[in-house]
Amino acid sequence: MKFGKMLRDALRSLFRKPVTVEYLTKPGRMVPVSERFRGRLTYDRDACIGCLLCVRVCPSGVIASTEDMKVAFNISRCILCGQCAEICPKEAIKLSTQFEIITGNKNGLILK
Ligand code: SF4
Ligand code: SF4
Repeated sequence: MKFGKMLRDALRSLFRKPVTVEYLTKPGRMVPVSERFRGRLTYDRDACIGCLLCVRVCPSGVIASTEDMKVAFNISRCILCGQCAEICPKEAIKLSTQFEIITGNKNGLILK
C-alpha cells in the first residue's frame, strides 16, 4: 500500500464510528446479542420425556442418557449447532444468549 493512501485512510478513520463494540457496555453489563444468538444450552429436566432424540442427533457426543431416563450434557464439547434444541419434541433444550462459557470448575460444564 502506498504511503499517501495509508495516511488518507488513517485520517479518515479518525472521524468514523468504530466498527467493533466494547465487550462491557457498562461495568458488569455485557454487550447485547441477537435473540437468535446460539449461546450456552439450557435444559428443562421436568419437560424432558427421555426420548433420547437429542442424543442421536448431537454430532459431538455431548449428550448422554442418565439412569433416571433423562439426559446430561457435557457442555465443554458442545459446538452450539442447535440440532438438539431443534429436534426436541418438548422444547426442553434451548440455546441461550449467554456466550461466556469458560469456567475454572469442570463440574460447571456438566448440565443435568
Ligand atoms: S448444540 Fe449441537 S453440539 Fe451442542 S449438545 Fe446440541 S446437538 Fe450437541
Ligand atoms: S430430545 Fe428433548 S425430550 Fe427427548 S431426551 Fe432430549 S431433551 Fe429429553
